Amino acid sequence: MGWWLARTLAALLFVALGGLAGVVAGSLLKAPTLGVAVGMMLAVGLLVLRDSLLGQSLMDWLRGPLSSAAPRDTGFWGELGYRVDRTLRTRELAVRHEREQLAQFLSAIEASPNGVMMLDANDQIEWCNSVGAEHFGLDPERDHLQPITNLVRTPAFVAHLQADRFDEPVVFSGPLGRSTLSVLVRSYGEGKKLVLSQDITERERNEAMRRDFVANVSHEIRTPLTVLAGFVETLDQLPLSEVERKRVLSLMDKQTQRMQALVGDLLTLAKLEGSPRPAADRWVAVAGLLEQAQRDAVALSAGRHVIEVEGGDDAEVAGSESELFSAVANLLNNAVRYTPEGGRVRLLWQWQADGGAELVVIDTGIGIAREHIGRLTERFYRVDGSRSRDTGGTGLGLSIVKHVAQRHGGSIDVQSELGKGSRFALSLPALRVRRRRKAAALAA
Ligand code: ADP
Repeated sequence: MGWWLARTLAALLFVALGGLAGVVAGSLLKAPTLGVAVGMMLAVGLLVLRDSLLGQSLMDWLRGPLSSAAPRDTGFWGELGYRVDRTLRTRELAVRHEREQLAQFLSAIEASPNGVMMLDANDQIEWCNSVGAEHFGLDPERDHLQPITNLVRTPAFVAHLQADRFDEPVVFSGPLGRSTLSVLVRSYGEGKKLVLSQDITERERNEAMRRDFVANVSHEIRTPLTVLAGFVETLDQLPLSEVERKRVLSLMDKQTQRMQALVGDLLTLAKLEGSPRPAADRWVAVAGLLEQAQRDAVALSAGRHVIEVEGGDDAEVAGSESELFSAVANLLNNAVRYTPEGGRVRLLWQWQADGGAELVVIDTGIGIAREHIGRLTERFYRVDGSRSRDTGGTGLGLSIVKHVAQRHGGSIDVQSELGKGSRFALSLPALRVRRRRKAAALAA
C-alpha cells in the first residue's frame, strides 16, 4: 500500500506541476484557467504515454521466449516485470528439478537387470526399459503407445494380461523361443499396469540339469542295488554249490565296486564344486604325479598295453596334488579302458610356447565319433554305456577332469578319430606352471 501511495502522490505531484506550469504559461497568454487545464491534461497525457511505453516493453518480453531477464524499469512496470520473472524462474527451476529426478528415476530403472514396462489403461506401451524391450523383442521408440498384445502374442501372456488376476508370475518362451521369461504384472493408477520380466533361461537350465543329475544318480545307484538284492535272495533261498556261490559273490563284489566308484566320483565332484580354488602358491612336482598314475594304469592294464611317460621331470604345477592326480589318473584310466589289448598309451608333459604346459594322454584305442566330442565332459555322458559300465566307468571321469582343469585356470581339449585313437590334453596356464630350480631339484 505504501508503494501504491507513493506512486499516486508522485502522479498527483506531476499533474500539479503540470497545472502550475499551465498557470504560468496561461498568465502570459492572459488565460490562466485554460492554462491550468491544458497543463494538467498534458501532465496526465505524459504519464499515460510513459506507462504505455513501459507496459509495451513488458508485453514484448512476455510475448517472447522469456529467455532473457524481464525489462528492469523503475516503478510499477519494473516491479511487475520483476515479480513475473521471479515466479517464472522459480517454476522453471522446480520443473527442471522434477525432470532431473524423473531422468534419474528412469535411469535407475534402466539399470535394473530385470525388464520393466508401463502399460496404460488400454494395455498400450507407455514406457519400457531396454532389458524389457529385449525380453519382449520390442523397439521402445517405434512401439511407443502400441497395444502390447499386438506385439507379444504368446497365448499364455495374453491370457494372463486379460485375466486381470496377477497373483502369480507367468512363465513362457521369449521371442524366437531362445529364452524363458518369468513375467509378473502389477496394477497401479487408474487401470495402468506395470510389467516386470526376468530372464530365467539359465535358472531353468540349471534346474533341468539338477533334475537330470538326481535322476541319473538314482538310476546309477538303483541298478547295482537291484542286482545285489537279487544275489542276496539267491544266496538265501537257493542251495548253491561252492563254485556257484563263489561266482555269485564275485558278481556281488563287482556291483559293490561299481557303487563304491560311483559314490567316490560323486564325492570328488561335490568337493570340486563346493570348495575354493586351489592355492596358486603350493607347488606340486609333476614327475611324482605321472609316476604314480603310470603305476596305477599298469596295474589296471595288467600287461595288455604298453604304457609310457615322457617329460615333466623338472616341472611343477601350482595347485592341489590330489585334484591333479585325480585328473591324470582319470585320463589314463580311460585310455587303458578304451584301448584294446596290444594298444599303446602315452602320458606326456609338454611345455608350450606361451610358458604354459599341457598334460597329454594319447592312446591308440577305439576313438570317439565327432558328434560326441563336445558332450564328453557332461556328467554321465557316455558314448557306449555298456562298455563304460563293463570296464568300471561311472560316466563322471571327464567331468572331474574338466573341473580340475578349470579350477587350475586351464581347460581340456579332445581330439579323436573313430577306430584310430584319442588325444586328451589338459592345458595349464603359465601362471600355474614352472620349471623346478636346479638346486631344489638336486636337493630333492
Ligand atoms: P566313463 O566312466 O564312462 O569312462 P568318462 O566321463 O571318463 O566316463 O568318459 C565319458 C565317455 O567318453 C566314456 O563313456 C567314453 O565313451 C568316452 N571316452 C573317454 N575317454 C575315452 C578314450 N580314451 N577313448 C575313447 N572313448 C573315451
